Amino acid sequence: MKLMFLGPPGAGKGTQAKMTCERYGIAHISTGDMLRAEIKSGSELGLKAKAVIDAGELVSDEIIVAMVENRLKQDDCKNGFLLDGVPRTLAQAGAMEAFVKLDAVIDIEVPSEFLVDRICTRRVCVACGATYSVKTLKGTACEACGAELIQRPDDTEETVLNRIAVYDAQTKPLVEYYKNKGIVKYIDGTGEISAVFGDIAKELDKL
Ligand SMILES: [Zn+2]
Repeated sequence: MKLMFLGPPGAGKGTQAKMTCERYGIAHISTGDMLRAEIKSGSELGLKAKAVIDAGELVSDEIIVAMVENRLKQDDCKNGFLLDGVPRTLAQAGAMEAFVKLDAVIDIEVPSEFLVDRICTRRVCVACGATYSVKTLKGTACEACGAELIQRPDDTEETVLNRIAVYDAQTKPLVEYYKNKGIVKYIDGTGEISAVFGDIAKELDKL
């Protein structure tokens, strides 16, 4: 099973990706983890990427694509994998055609106003990182460990709308690209975590 997940910030993509990988026994490949592992390994690609990041620049499509190609050769990808955050551009998607053919692209859709509401009402525990919604929270402290809850400075309407705009600009062309291949599965991401996962599994069980 070769998958890619798309979804705006706050859509719960990370959680759904993790649950999917556990259920189907496939490898979770996120750009961040992949970059960190390459840099830590001291490989030629890792050193190149580190130099670019240290200079405050974005890692090129060429380096990202080469890293994905390496990563997919590892043993844990034999049963399949889920790409999370990559490809990010049409150029990356095109270059990846040379070594990977995806079975499905899961597009988790959540309207902007829903995302703004979800993110702006989010509170995070300073100690254990648990997240809560002020709408369902009882009291003012973390229900798991009792520590203080804060609102992340980035969790404001302005920042969220900005993040969504960046995501839309980058991702819409990608959705079109995979739609033309007939492999995009649209998932309504507004429900409960378990309900959304149920919809995803229903699609994947058909593959
Ligand atoms: Zn806590």
